[in-house]
Amino acid sequence: MASVRRQRVAEQMQEEISSLIAKGLKDPRIGFVTITSVDISADLKRAWVYFCTSGTDADRERSQQGLQSSSGYIRRMLGKRLRLRNIPEFEFKYDESLDRGNQIETILSEVREQEGWDDPERVRGSAEEVALAFIAGKRFLVTSHLNPDGDAIASMLAVRLLLESMGKEVVCYNPDPVPHNFMFLAGAADIENTTGEDSFDHTVVLDCSELNRCGPLPAEELRGKLVGIDHHLTVSPLGEARYLNPKASSIGEMLDKVLEHLPVEIDLDLAKCLYCSILTDTGSFRYSNTAPATLHLAARLVEIGVSPWDMTLKVYESQPVERVHLLAEVLQTLVVDPSGKHASITVTDEMFEKTGTSKDLIDGFINYPRGIDGVEVAIQFRQADINRYKVSFRSRGNVDVASIAQGFGGGGHRNAAGCELSGELNEVQKIIYQAIDRALAP
Ligand code: 5GP
Ligand code: MN
Repeated sequence: MASVRRQRVAEQMQEEISSLIAKGLKDPRIGFVTITSVDISADLKRAWVYFCTSGTDADRERSQQGLQSSSGYIRRMLGKRLRLRNIPEFEFKYDESLDRGNQIETILSEVREQEGWDDPERVRGSAEEVALAFIAGKRFLVTSHLNPDGDAIASMLAVRLLLESMGKEVVCYNPDPVPHNFMFLAGAADIENTTGEDSFDHTVVLDCSELNRCGPLPAEELRGKLVGIDHHLTVSPLGEARYLNPKASSIGEMLDKVLEHLPVEIDLDLAKCLYCSILTDTGSFRYSNTAPATLHLAARLVEIGVSPWDMTLKVYESQPVERVHLLAEVLQTLVVDPSGKHASITVTDEMFEKTGTSKDLIDGFINYPRGIDGVEVAIQFRQADINRYKVSFRSRGNVDVASIAQGFGGGGHRNAAGCELSGELNEVQKIIYQAIDRALAP
Protein backbone atom coordinates (compact mmCIF):
# COMPACT_ATOMS: atom_id res chain seq x y z
CA MET A 1 0.00 0.00 0.00
CA ALA A 2 1.30 3.43 -0.87
CA SER A 3 2.89 5.04 2.12
CA VAL A 4 0.70 8.14 1.93
CA ARG A 5 -2.42 6.02 2.22
CA ARG A 6 -0.82 4.00 5.00
CA GLN A 7 -0.05 7.20 6.82
CA ARG A 8 -3.68 8.28 6.47
CA VAL A 9 -5.01 4.98 7.79
CA ALA A 10 -2.61 5.24 10.72
CA GLU A 11 -3.89 8.73 11.52
CA GLN A 12 -7.49 7.58 11.31
CA MET A 13 -6.72 4.67 13.58
CA GLN A 14 -5.07 6.97 16.08
CA GLU A 15 -8.13 9.19 16.07
CA GLU A 16 -10.61 6.33 16.39
CA ILE A 17 -8.69 4.55 19.14
CA SER A 18 -8.36 7.82 21.05
CA SER A 19 -12.06 8.42 20.81
CA LEU A 20 -12.87 4.87 21.99
CA ILE A 21 -10.58 5.43 24.97
CA ALA A 22 -12.10 8.83 25.72
CA LYS A 23 -15.57 7.25 25.78
CA GLY A 24 -14.21 4.80 28.32
CA LEU A 25 -13.06 1.25 27.76
CA LYS A 26 -14.36 -1.18 30.34
CA ASP A 27 -11.03 -2.53 31.55
CA PRO A 28 -10.36 -0.89 34.95
CA ARG A 29 -6.61 -1.23 34.51
CA ILE A 30 -6.55 1.45 31.83
CA GLY A 31 -5.52 4.75 33.40
CA PHE A 32 -5.30 8.16 31.83
CA VAL A 33 -3.69 7.24 28.50
CA THR A 34 -3.04 9.25 25.36
CA ILE A 35 -2.36 7.62 21.99
CA THR A 36 0.66 9.40 20.59
CA SER A 37 1.09 7.62 17.21
CA VAL A 38 0.28 4.52 15.18
CA ASP A 39 2.70 2.69 12.86
CA ILE A 40 1.41 0.19 10.33
CA SER A 41 3.47 -2.46 8.57
CA ALA A 42 3.72 -2.29 4.75
CA ASP A 43 1.46 -5.35 4.31
CA LEU A 44 -1.08 -3.72 6.65
CA LYS A 45 -1.13 -6.84 8.84
CA ARG A 46 0.38 -5.37 11.95
CA ALA A 47 0.14 -2.06 13.77
CA TRP A 48 2.01 -0.63 16.72
CA VAL A 49 -0.06 1.71 18.81
CA TYR A 50 2.08 4.00 20.94
CA PHE A 51 0.67 5.52 24.10
CA CYS A 52 1.82 7.59 27.02
CA THR A 53 0.40 7.80 30.50
CA SER A 54 1.09 9.41 33.85
CA GLY A 55 1.84 7.54 37.06
CA THR A 56 4.34 4.91 38.06
CA ASP A 57 5.87 2.11 35.96
CA ALA A 58 3.29 -0.22 37.51
CA ASP A 59 0.43 2.10 36.40
CA ARG A 60 1.89 2.12 32.91
CA GLU A 61 2.10 -1.65 32.82
CA ARG A 62 -1.48 -2.02 34.04
CA SER A 63 -2.68 0.36 31.34
CA GLN A 64 -0.75 -1.57 28.72
CA GLN A 65 -2.28 -4.88 29.84
CA GLY A 66 -5.73 -3.30 29.92
CA LEU A 67 -5.34 -1.86 26.43
CA GLN A 68 -3.98 -5.12 25.06
CA SER A 69 -6.89 -7.11 26.47
CA SER A 70 -9.34 -4.60 24.99
CA SER A 71 -7.77 -4.94 21.55
CA GLY A 72 -10.38 -7.44 20.30
CA TYR A 73 -13.12 -4.92 21.03
CA ILE A 74 -11.12 -2.04 19.58
CA ARG A 75 -10.46 -3.99 16.38
CA ARG A 76 -14.13 -4.81 15.94
CA MET A 77 -15.07 -1.15 16.41
CA LEU A 78 -12.35 -0.02 13.98
CA GLY A 79 -13.52 -2.56 11.42
CA LYS A 80 -16.95 -0.95 11.49
CA ARG A 81 -15.78 2.65 11.58
CA LEU A 82 -12.93 2.59 9.07
CA ARG A 83 -14.49 0.14 6.61
CA LEU A 84 -11.23 -1.70 6.11
CA ARG A 85 -11.28 -5.22 4.81
CA ASN A 86 -8.50 -6.29 7.15
CA ILE A 87 -7.82 -4.56 10.39
CA PRO A 88 -4.22 -5.14 11.43
CA GLU A 89 -3.36 -7.03 14.59
CA PHE A 90 -2.08 -4.44 16.96
CA GLU A 91 0.28 -4.20 19.79
CA PHE A 92 0.22 -1.44 22.36
CA LYS A 93 3.62 0.02 23.15
CA TYR A 94 4.66 2.61 25.64
CA ASP A 95 6.03 5.65 23.83
CA GLU A 96 9.55 5.87 25.25
CA SER A 97 10.56 8.69 22.93
CA LEU A 98 8.37 11.07 24.87
CA ASP A 99 10.07 10.33 28.15
CA ARG A 100 13.41 11.17 26.71
CA GLY A 101 12.37 14.45 25.23
CA ASN A 102 10.49 15.24 28.41
CA GLN A 103 7.60 16.11 26.15
CA ILE A 104 5.27 13.78 27.96
CA GLU A 105 4.48 16.29 30.68
CA THR A 106 3.64 18.93 28.09
CA ILE A 107 1.35 16.64 26.10
CA LEU A 108 -0.30 15.29 29.21
CA SER A 109 -0.86 18.67 30.75
CA GLU A 110 -2.43 19.94 27.52
CA VAL A 111 -4.80 16.99 27.36
CA ARG A 112 -5.45 17.13 31.09
CA GLU A 113 -6.48 20.72 30.77
CA GLN A 114 -8.68 20.06 27.74
CA GLU A 115 -10.43 17.20 29.48
CA GLY A 116 -10.70 18.86 32.87
CA TRP A 117 -8.50 16.17 34.37
CA ASP A 118 -7.29 18.42 37.15
CA ASP A 119 -10.82 19.33 38.14
CA PRO A 120 -11.13 18.18 41.77
CA GLU A 121 -14.86 17.62 41.26
CA ARG A 122 -14.29 15.00 38.56
CA VAL A 123 -15.29 11.37 39.10
CA ARG A 124 -12.35 8.97 38.94
CA GLY A 125 -12.19 5.20 38.79
CA SER A 126 -15.51 3.41 39.11
CA ALA A 127 -17.76 1.37 41.34
CA GLU A 128 -17.03 -1.61 39.09
CA GLU A 129 -13.28 -1.24 39.55
CA VAL A 130 -13.73 -1.45 43.31
CA ALA A 131 -16.20 -4.35 43.03
CA LEU A 132 -13.63 -6.33 41.02
CA ALA A 133 -11.08 -5.82 43.79
CA PHE A 134 -13.66 -6.93 46.40
CA ILE A 135 -14.29 -10.09 44.37
CA ALA A 136 -10.59 -10.77 43.84
CA GLY A 137 -9.37 -10.38 47.44
CA LYS A 138 -9.50 -12.85 50.31
CA ARG A 139 -8.27 -11.00 53.36
CA PHE A 140 -9.08 -7.34 53.79
CA LEU A 141 -8.09 -4.54 56.13
CA VAL A 142 -10.83 -1.88 56.15
CA THR A 143 -10.07 1.57 57.49
CA SER A 144 -10.98 5.25 57.34
CA HIS A 145 -9.77 8.61 58.63
CA LEU A 146 -8.81 9.53 62.21
CA ASN A 147 -11.53 11.16 64.35
CA PRO A 148 -14.05 8.96 62.55
CA ASP A 149 -17.51 10.42 61.96
CA GLY A 150 -20.75 8.61 61.16
CA ASP A 151 -19.83 8.15 57.52
CA ALA A 152 -16.40 6.72 58.37
CA ILE A 153 -17.67 4.23 60.96
CA ALA A 154 -20.84 3.20 59.14
CA SER A 155 -19.11 2.74 55.81
CA MET A 156 -16.32 0.65 57.37
CA LEU A 157 -18.92 -1.60 58.96
CA ALA A 158 -20.93 -1.75 55.73
CA VAL A 159 -17.86 -2.87 53.80
CA ARG A 160 -17.14 -5.53 56.39
CA LEU A 161 -20.72 -6.85 56.21
CA LEU A 162 -20.73 -7.02 52.44
CA LEU A 163 -17.30 -8.63 52.22
CA GLU A 164 -18.12 -11.16 54.92
CA SER A 165 -21.28 -12.12 53.12
CA MET A 166 -19.03 -12.96 50.16
CA GLY A 167 -16.96 -15.23 52.43
CA LYS A 168 -14.00 -12.87 52.84
CA GLU A 169 -11.94 -12.32 55.97
CA VAL A 170 -12.08 -8.75 57.21
CA VAL A 171 -10.43 -6.66 59.92
CA CYS A 172 -11.89 -3.19 60.56
CA TYR A 173 -9.40 -0.75 62.01
CA ASN A 174 -9.37 2.80 63.31
CA PRO A 175 -6.92 4.00 65.95
CA ASP A 176 -9.47 6.48 67.36
CA PRO A 177 -12.44 5.38 69.45
CA VAL A 178 -15.86 4.82 67.91
CA PRO A 179 -18.15 7.68 68.96
CA HIS A 180 -20.73 6.35 71.43
CA ASN A 181 -23.69 7.09 69.16
CA PHE A 182 -22.49 4.69 66.44
CA MET A 183 -21.90 1.77 68.80
CA PHE A 184 -25.34 0.37 67.93
CA LEU A 185 -24.27 -0.50 64.38
CA ALA A 186 -23.53 -4.18 63.70
CA GLY A 187 -19.89 -4.93 64.45
CA ALA A 188 -19.04 -1.52 65.95
CA ALA A 189 -17.57 -3.13 69.05
CA ASP A 190 -15.18 -5.13 66.87
CA ILE A 191 -13.31 -2.25 65.31
CA GLU A 192 -9.66 -2.78 66.21
CA ASN A 193 -7.46 0.12 67.31
CA THR A 194 -4.23 -1.52 66.14
CA THR A 195 -3.43 -3.82 63.22
CA GLY A 196 -0.63 -5.82 64.81
CA GLU A 197 1.61 -7.78 62.46
CA ASP A 198 -1.25 -9.12 60.38
CA SER A 199 -0.93 -9.21 56.62
CA PHE A 200 -3.66 -8.54 54.08
CA ASP A 201 -4.11 -8.87 50.33
CA HIS A 202 -6.20 -5.67 50.18
CA THR A 203 -6.48 -2.54 52.30
CA VAL A 204 -9.68 -0.57 51.78
CA VAL A 205 -9.49 3.13 52.67
CA LEU A 206 -12.87 4.85 52.98
CA ASP A 207 -13.86 8.52 53.07
CA CYS A 208 -10.27 9.66 52.81
CA SER A 209 -7.70 10.20 50.06
CA GLU A 210 -4.65 10.74 52.22
CA LEU A 211 -2.97 7.79 53.87
CA ASN A 212 -1.46 10.02 56.55
CA ARG A 213 -5.01 10.72 57.83
CA CYS A 214 -5.52 7.03 58.64
CA GLY A 215 -3.08 6.76 61.53
CA PRO A 216 -0.45 4.01 61.59
CA LEU A 217 -1.01 1.41 58.86
CA PRO A 218 0.74 -1.93 58.30
CA ALA A 219 3.96 -1.77 56.27
CA GLU A 220 3.45 -1.66 52.51
CA GLU A 221 4.34 -5.33 52.02
CA LEU A 222 1.74 -6.36 54.62
CA ARG A 223 -1.20 -4.33 53.41
CA GLY A 224 -1.58 -5.64 49.84
CA LYS A 225 -3.38 -3.62 47.20
CA LEU A 226 -4.95 -0.34 48.17
CA VAL A 227 -8.61 0.21 47.35
CA GLY A 228 -9.92 3.76 47.79
CA ILE A 229 -13.52 4.97 47.97
CA ASP A 230 -13.90 8.67 48.64
CA HIS A 231 -16.07 11.73 48.04
CA HIS A 232 -13.71 14.51 49.08
CA LEU A 233 -12.46 17.15 46.67
CA THR A 234 -9.12 15.92 45.42
CA VAL A 235 -7.16 15.51 42.22
CA SER A 236 -5.23 12.56 43.53
CA PRO A 237 -7.49 9.77 44.71
CA LEU A 238 -5.82 6.94 46.48
CA GLY A 239 -5.56 3.28 45.55
CA GLU A 240 -4.81 0.82 42.82
CA ALA A 241 -8.53 0.25 42.51
CA ARG A 242 -10.49 3.37 43.23
CA TYR A 243 -13.80 5.12 43.10
CA LEU A 244 -13.92 8.84 43.77
CA ASN A 245 -17.10 10.85 43.35
CA PRO A 246 -17.01 14.30 44.99
CA LYS A 247 -20.71 14.76 44.14
CA ALA A 248 -21.79 11.73 46.17
CA SER A 249 -23.44 12.59 49.47
CA SER A 250 -21.59 9.91 51.41
CA ILE A 251 -19.62 6.71 51.15
CA GLY A 252 -22.89 4.86 51.88
CA GLU A 253 -24.34 6.16 48.63
CA MET A 254 -21.20 5.13 46.74
CA LEU A 255 -21.24 1.65 48.29
CA ASP A 256 -24.73 1.13 46.94
CA LYS A 257 -23.24 1.62 43.45
CA VAL A 258 -20.48 -0.90 44.26
CA LEU A 259 -23.14 -3.36 45.46
CA GLU A 260 -24.75 -3.24 42.00
CA HIS A 261 -21.74 -5.22 40.77
CA LEU A 262 -21.65 -7.71 43.66
CA PRO A 263 -23.67 -10.84 44.48
CA VAL A 264 -24.84 -9.32 47.78
CA GLU A 265 -28.37 -8.51 48.96
CA ILE A 266 -28.76 -5.60 51.37
CA ASP A 267 -30.02 -7.02 54.68
CA LEU A 268 -31.20 -4.98 57.66
CA ASP A 269 -27.77 -4.63 59.31
CA LEU A 270 -26.19 -3.45 56.08
CA ALA A 271 -29.16 -1.16 55.37
CA LYS A 272 -28.69 0.51 58.78
CA CYS A 273 -25.02 1.16 58.07
CA LEU A 274 -25.74 2.66 54.66
CA TYR A 275 -28.55 4.79 56.09
CA CYS A 276 -26.37 6.00 58.96
CA SER A 277 -23.62 6.99 56.55
CA ILE A 278 -26.06 9.00 54.43
CA LEU A 279 -27.94 10.44 57.42
CA THR A 280 -24.83 11.83 59.08
CA ASP A 281 -23.06 13.14 55.97
CA THR A 282 -26.16 14.94 54.69
CA GLY A 283 -26.87 16.46 58.13
CA SER A 284 -30.12 14.47 58.24
CA PHE A 285 -30.94 15.09 54.57
CA ARG A 286 -30.55 18.85 54.95
CA TYR A 287 -27.30 19.68 53.14
CA SER A 288 -26.98 20.51 49.48
CA ASN A 289 -25.38 17.11 48.83
CA THR A 290 -28.86 15.58 49.30
CA ALA A 291 -29.75 14.65 45.72
CA PRO A 292 -32.87 12.88 44.45
CA ALA A 293 -30.77 9.69 44.19
CA THR A 294 -29.81 10.08 47.87
CA LEU A 295 -33.45 10.17 48.91
CA HIS A 296 -34.38 7.30 46.59
CA LEU A 297 -31.68 5.18 48.21
CA ALA A 298 -32.84 6.21 51.70
CA ALA A 299 -36.38 5.19 50.71
CA ARG A 300 -35.14 1.77 49.58
CA LEU A 301 -33.33 1.34 52.90
CA VAL A 302 -36.50 2.23 54.80
CA GLU A 303 -38.35 -0.36 52.70
CA ILE A 304 -35.79 -2.94 53.81
CA GLY A 305 -36.72 -2.14 57.40
CA VAL A 306 -34.64 0.81 58.63
CA SER A 307 -36.68 2.99 60.99
CA PRO A 308 -35.86 6.70 60.52
CA TRP A 309 -36.99 7.58 64.03
CA ASP A 310 -35.05 4.77 65.63
CA MET A 311 -31.94 5.91 63.72
CA THR A 312 -32.54 9.51 64.90
CA LEU A 313 -32.87 8.35 68.51
CA LYS A 314 -29.68 6.34 68.34
CA VAL A 315 -27.55 8.82 66.42
CA TYR A 316 -28.76 12.16 67.78
CA GLU A 317 -30.83 11.67 70.88
CA SER A 318 -28.84 9.35 73.11
CA GLN A 319 -26.19 11.73 74.31
CA PRO A 320 -24.52 11.29 77.67
CA VAL A 321 -25.29 14.19 79.99
CA GLU A 322 -21.55 14.97 80.09
CA ARG A 323 -21.75 16.01 76.46
CA VAL A 324 -24.32 18.66 77.30
CA HIS A 325 -22.09 19.91 80.13
CA LEU A 326 -19.19 20.10 77.69
CA LEU A 327 -21.36 21.99 75.19
CA ALA A 328 -22.20 24.50 77.91
CA GLU A 329 -18.47 25.15 78.43
CA VAL A 330 -17.74 25.36 74.73
CA LEU A 331 -20.56 27.78 73.93
CA GLN A 332 -19.04 30.29 76.34
CA THR A 333 -16.07 30.57 73.99
CA LEU A 334 -18.24 31.74 71.10
CA VAL A 335 -16.67 34.65 69.23
CA VAL A 336 -18.57 36.38 66.42
CA ASP A 337 -16.40 38.53 64.17
CA PRO A 338 -17.44 42.24 64.07
CA SER A 339 -18.34 41.71 60.39
CA GLY A 340 -20.86 39.12 61.54
CA LYS A 341 -19.64 36.82 58.76
CA HIS A 342 -17.61 34.35 60.73
CA ALA A 343 -17.94 32.88 64.19
CA SER A 344 -15.86 30.43 66.15
CA ILE A 345 -15.88 28.15 69.18
CA THR A 346 -12.95 26.58 71.02
CA VAL A 347 -12.61 23.24 72.79
CA THR A 348 -9.69 22.74 75.17
CA ASP A 349 -8.29 19.78 77.12
CA GLU A 350 -9.23 21.61 80.30
CA MET A 351 -12.91 21.45 79.30
CA PHE A 352 -12.66 17.71 78.62
CA GLU A 353 -11.11 17.22 82.05
CA LYS A 354 -13.66 19.35 83.84
CA THR A 355 -16.62 17.52 82.30
CA GLY A 356 -15.08 14.04 82.17
CA THR A 357 -15.43 13.87 78.39
CA SER A 358 -13.21 13.34 75.35
CA LYS A 359 -13.00 14.47 71.74
CA ASP A 360 -15.35 11.80 70.41
CA LEU A 361 -18.25 13.76 71.94
CA ILE A 362 -17.89 17.05 70.06
CA ASP A 363 -19.41 16.08 66.74
CA GLY A 364 -22.01 18.69 65.82
CA PHE A 365 -20.85 21.51 68.12
CA ILE A 366 -19.72 23.54 65.13
CA ASN A 367 -23.33 23.71 63.94
CA TYR A 368 -24.02 26.30 66.66
CA PRO A 369 -21.78 29.04 65.23
CA ARG A 370 -22.77 27.97 61.72
CA GLY A 371 -26.43 28.46 62.57
CA ILE A 372 -26.10 32.15 63.48
CA ASP A 373 -27.92 34.48 61.10
CA GLY A 374 -25.43 36.17 58.76
CA VAL A 375 -22.53 33.83 59.51
CA GLU A 376 -20.93 32.49 56.33
CA VAL A 377 -18.05 30.53 57.85
CA ALA A 378 -18.01 28.73 61.19
CA ILE A 379 -14.78 27.62 62.81
CA GLN A 380 -13.99 25.25 65.64
CA PHE A 381 -10.58 25.12 67.32
CA ARG A 382 -10.00 21.91 69.22
CA GLN A 383 -6.87 21.37 71.23
CA ALA A 384 -5.06 18.33 69.81
CA ASP A 385 -1.89 18.66 71.86
CA ILE A 386 -0.15 21.26 74.00
CA ASN A 387 0.43 23.80 71.25
CA ARG A 388 -1.48 22.17 68.45
CA TYR A 389 -5.05 22.71 67.24
CA LYS A 390 -7.42 20.82 65.00
CA VAL A 391 -9.39 23.42 63.05
CA SER A 392 -12.77 22.58 61.52
CA PHE A 393 -14.56 24.80 59.03
CA ARG A 394 -18.16 24.92 57.88
CA SER A 395 -19.37 27.24 55.17
CA ARG A 396 -22.91 27.95 54.20
CA GLY A 397 -22.39 30.51 51.48
CA ASN A 398 -20.02 30.74 48.58
CA VAL A 399 -16.79 30.39 50.51
CA ASP A 400 -14.94 27.20 49.56
CA VAL A 401 -13.52 26.10 52.91
CA ALA A 402 -11.76 23.07 51.38
CA SER A 403 -9.36 25.42 49.64
CA ILE A 404 -8.76 27.40 52.87
CA ALA A 405 -8.00 24.13 54.70
CA GLN A 406 -5.77 22.97 51.83
CA GLY A 407 -3.73 26.13 52.33
CA PHE A 408 -2.82 24.71 55.76
CA GLY A 409 -2.18 21.15 54.60
CA GLY A 410 -5.73 19.93 55.28
CA GLY A 411 -8.69 19.33 52.99
CA GLY A 412 -12.33 18.32 52.86
CA HIS A 413 -15.41 19.40 50.97
CA ARG A 414 -16.48 22.83 49.73
CA ASN A 415 -18.73 23.31 52.79
CA ALA A 416 -16.96 21.23 55.44
CA ALA A 417 -13.22 20.97 55.82
CA GLY A 418 -10.42 20.83 58.35
CA CYS A 419 -6.70 21.06 59.04
CA GLU A 420 -4.23 21.04 61.94
CA LEU A 421 -1.96 23.88 63.01
CA SER A 422 0.78 24.26 65.60
CA GLY A 423 1.11 27.33 67.80
CA GLU A 424 -0.47 29.07 70.75
CA LEU A 425 -4.25 29.29 70.54
CA ASN A 426 -4.33 33.04 69.89
CA GLU A 427 -1.69 32.78 67.14
CA VAL A 428 -3.56 29.95 65.42
CA GLN A 429 -6.80 31.91 65.69
CA LYS A 430 -5.24 35.01 64.19
CA ILE A 431 -3.83 33.11 61.20
CA ILE A 432 -7.14 31.40 60.53
CA TYR A 433 -9.23 34.57 60.89
CA GLN A 434 -6.93 36.33 58.41
CA ALA A 435 -7.32 33.50 55.88
CA ILE A 436 -11.09 33.64 56.26
CA ASP A 437 -11.17 37.43 55.95
CA ARG A 438 -9.24 37.08 52.69
CA ALA A 439 -11.68 34.45 51.39
CA LEU A 440 -14.65 36.62 52.37
CA ALA A 441 -13.21 39.81 50.85
CA PRO A 442 -15.25 40.92 47.84
P1 5GP B 1 -14.48 17.76 60.61
O1 5GP B 1 -14.46 19.22 60.79
O2 5GP B 1 -15.85 17.18 60.83
O3 5GP B 1 -13.39 17.03 61.32
O4 5GP B 1 -14.18 17.52 59.07
C1 5GP B 1 -14.93 18.11 58.07
C2 5GP B 1 -14.48 17.59 56.74
O5 5GP B 1 -13.17 18.00 56.46
C3 5GP B 1 -14.47 16.09 56.67
O6 5GP B 1 -14.96 15.71 55.40
C4 5GP B 1 -13.05 15.72 56.85
O7 5GP B 1 -12.76 14.54 56.20
C5 5GP B 1 -12.30 16.91 56.29
N1 5GP B 1 -11.11 17.15 57.10
C6 5GP B 1 -11.07 17.49 58.40
N2 5GP B 1 -9.83 17.61 58.85
C7 5GP B 1 -9.02 17.35 57.82
C8 5GP B 1 -7.60 17.32 57.65
O8 5GP B 1 -6.79 17.55 58.58
N3 5GP B 1 -7.14 17.01 56.41
C9 5GP B 1 -7.99 16.75 55.37
N4 5GP B 1 -7.48 16.45 54.18
N5 5GP B 1 -9.33 16.79 55.50
C10 5GP B 1 -9.85 17.07 56.68
MN1 MN C 1 -17.83 11.33 54.29
